[in-house]
Amino acid sequence: MYCKRFYFKFGVFIKYYITTPIFYVTNKPHIGTAYTVIIADILSRWHRLLGDDVFFLTGTDEHGEKVDEAAKKNNQTPQELVDKISKNFEELWKSLEITNNKFIRTTDKKHVDTVIKFLMEIYKKGDIYKGNYEGWYCVPDETFITELQLVDGKCPFCGRDVKKIIEQSYFFRLSKYQNKLLELYEQNPKFLMPKNKSQEIINRVKSGLNDISISRSTVKWGIELPMEKDHTVYVWFDALINYLSAIDWPNQNYKKYWPADLHLVGKEINWFHSVIWPAMLLSVGLDIPKTIFSHGWWTVDGKKMSKSLGNVVDPLEITKKYGNDALRYFFVREVPLGDDADFSEKALISRINGELVNDLGNLVYRTLSLAEKFTGEVKGNKELEEKINLEKIKEYMTDFNTFEAIEEIWSIVRNTNKYINEKEAWKLSGDELGSVLYNLLESLRVISILISPFMPETSEKIRKQLGNKIENLSDCKFKVYSGKIKKEGHLFEKIK
Ligand SMILES: [Zn+2]
Repeated sequence: MYCKRFYFKFGVFIKYYITTPIFYVTNKPHIGTAYTVIIADILSRWHRLLGDDVFFLTGTDEHGEKVDEAAKKNNQTPQELVDKISKNFEELWKSLEITNNKFIRTTDKKHVDTVIKFLMEIYKKGDIYKGNYEGWYCVPDETFITELQLVDGKCPFCGRDVKKIIEQSYFFRLSKYQNKLLELYEQNPKFLMPKNKSQEIINRVKSGLNDISISRSTVKWGIELPMEKDHTVYVWFDALINYLSAIDWPNQNYKKYWPADLHLVGKEINWFHSVIWPAMLLSVGLDIPKTIFSHGWWTVDGKKMSKSLGNVVDPLEITKKYGNDALRYFFVREVPLGDDADFSEKALISRINGELVNDLGNLVYRTLSLAEKFTGEVKGNKELEEKINLEKIKEYMTDFNTFEAIEEIWSIVRNTNKYINEKEAWKLSGDELGSVLYNLLESLRVISILISPFMPETSEKIRKQLGNKIENLSDCKFKVYSGKIKKEGHLFEKIK
C-alpha cells in the first residue's frame, strides 16, 4: 500500500525517532551539551537525506530540588526561572541551526499529564510500593546515592557534598526486571552502544538491582505523585517519560514514531537510559527503544570542565568566532562517537586551516576558477565516480560511526584534489579540460550532498556556486552535467 504522506521503502514505512537528553535547566550549556545536540542533528539530517520521516526531539528538564533552590536564591518562582532558562536553550539551538522537530519542557501540561498516566500504569502492574528511604542524595546531580556508593563521604559522580535524607517514599520494583533486562541486552546487541562500553552496564545489572525511590515528600517543585499528593515524582522518573509525552502517548498516534530509534546520551546518564528506562517500559508493556548510545566526554585543554577552573567553553562563543560548520566538523573528525576527547581552540584551528581551508576550500576554489573560464562542453568519462563509496558511508552512518563516515567523505575530497594535480588541469584546454572538469564538478556536487548533514552551511555554499538544485542521497552518482557556475570567494578563511 502506498500512502502519499509517508515515505515507504520496499513497502516498509521508514521513520526515525532520535532524541537528545532533555537538559537540566540549572546547568549552563557547554561544549559537551552542544556536542550531544550537534551529533543528534547530524544523524537527523543524514536520515532525512535518506528519505526517512525523522522526528528529532530535544528539550529541558525543569523540576527538582535544585531548580527550587536556584529560584529561591534569585528571588524568583521556579516557574519564572525555568521559563527564562528554557528559552535560552531554545535560542541557542536555533543559532546553532539545530533542526529539532520539537522542543519539550517537563513543565508542559501535556508532559505532566503523561507522567501521571504512565505512573498509574506501573502502579496497576503492582510495581510501585510505599516505603521509607534512608540514604544520601546529591542535589546538583539529583541522584539517590547508597551508603556503598559514597566515595570518602562524597558523591561518587561529581565529588560534591551529599545530603542525608530519611523520608517516606514510593519505590519502583527495579529488582524485578533484572533477568528481563539481561535478556533484552542479550537479544538486542544494538541496544547498548557503543559495544565496548556495554559490558560495564551488563555486569552491574548482573550483580543485582535495588528497587529505586521514585518520589520525594520534601521536594515541592515537581509533578504531584498520583498515589499521594504530598509527594512529588522523582525528577529522573519524570524526565525519562518525556520521550513518550513528546509523541503523544498514550494516544494511538504515538505508534507513528515509537519505539525510539536512538536515545543519544552522555555516559554520565547512561544508567538511567540503559537500565531504569527499559525497566519502566517493560513494566508498562511498551516496546523498548532500539539503541541507547552513550557518547564520551569532552575535556578542555586537557582538563575536566568546571566552574571553579573557569574553563567552561560556551559553544556560542566558539561558533561566533569560527562558524557553526567548523565546530560540527571538528566534533565528528576529532574522535569516534563513544570515546572521550579534548577540546582546544588550537586543535580546532588546526582542523580549519588544514582540512577545511586546504582540502575542501582549495578544491572548490581551484575547480571553480577553471570552470568559470571554460567555454567548451563539460562532459567526459566518469573516472572519479568509482572513488565514491556510498555504500560504505551508509554502513558507517548506520553503525553511528560518524568518525569513519567523515573520513571516507574526506578521502573523496583528497582524491579529487590529487586528480587536479595529476591531470595538471591548469595546462589543459578543449575537450581534455571539459572531461577533467566534468569529473571535478560532478565530484563536488556529490561531496556537497554528502557533507550536508555534517556541514549544512558549507554544503549550501558549494551547491549555490555550482548552480545545482537541492538533492538527496540517490543523486550521489555522476549524471549529465547541468550546473551553472557562480564562483564566489573562499569557503573558509585561514586563521592565524
Ligand atoms: Zn553529585
